Amino acid sequence: MPLKIIALGTGVCSNGFCSFPERYPPGFLIDIDGVLMLFDCSEGIRYRVQQAGYDYGYVQHVAISHSHPDHAALPQFLQAKSCRRIFADDHPEFGVCDVYMPTELVNGFADVWRWHVPENEGQYWREFTPRFVPMGEGSSVGIAPGIILKSFPVYHAFGKHPSVAYRLETPYGVIAYSGDSAVCDGLIEAARNATLFICEQGFGLGYNDVMKYGHLTPTNVGEVCVAAEPEHVRLVHYIGLDREEEVIKEIRRAGFQGDVSRAMDMDVWTLE
Ligand SMILES: [Zn+2]
Ligand SMILES: [Zn+2]
Repeated sequence: MPLKIIALGTGVCSNGFCSFPERYPPGFLIDIDGVLMLFDCSEGIRYRVQQAGYDYGYVQHVAISHSHPDHAALPQFLQAKSCRRIFADDHPEFGVCDVYMPTELVNGFADVWRWHVPENEGQYWREFTPRFVPMGEGSSVGIAPGIILKSFPVYHAFGKHPSVAYRLETPYGVIAYSGDSAVCDGLIEAARNATLFICEQGFGLGYNDVMKYGHLTPTNVGEVCVAAEPEHVRLVHYIGLDREEEVIKEIRRAGFQGDVSRAMDMDVWTLE
């Protein structure tokens, strides 16, 4: 079976900017021979996992790029996973969930969970206790035989928000995911020679990020891709205001001549 990636959310933190189709906030389901991983976990993602034909009970790996609310509706997902396990006696495998995220965010999440579940002293349940895996500079974690998740710190949100880009190395090829990021070395390293680069384009054509908040314009996407040379690029984290032809033209003008197009929700990509 090939590796399959389903774009469950190619949008941003807000919606209603363009008529249709709407884009949900970030989330990508990766199926590698039945090993299921999410890149980011936006609000209500379990419904879209189901819509894609999967049971979220089997999603045992969740990699969070950073904790902005549009990327990390994690308490809701963990609660749903817990109850999915508790109400399904015959599925102990639903009780497994490894959550990868920047080290500082692992440390901070205990308080978030306690805020949601004070009646349980901030603990999890016997049937379902997620395992948190801190990720940072140089992190490299074996997910399953032949599958390695690597993280690369990136610049985002004035450089004040712990954020990483991910690189998933598999027998079928390498998938890189920018999370939210400005042009930076970490992003280029994550995407270097990737088979598929899922790349944010949070800023529109011609935007000048004088405040140095940290997203990519189409020009920046071109710069990163010229340096990293990924094989296929799919643009995400986008509200839909610029025309696709104009965006692609600008990426070409910045020097990248490889395969690039804009993603839509429920797009499916395969690697063989
Ligand atoms: Zn974002
Ligand atoms: Zn963000």
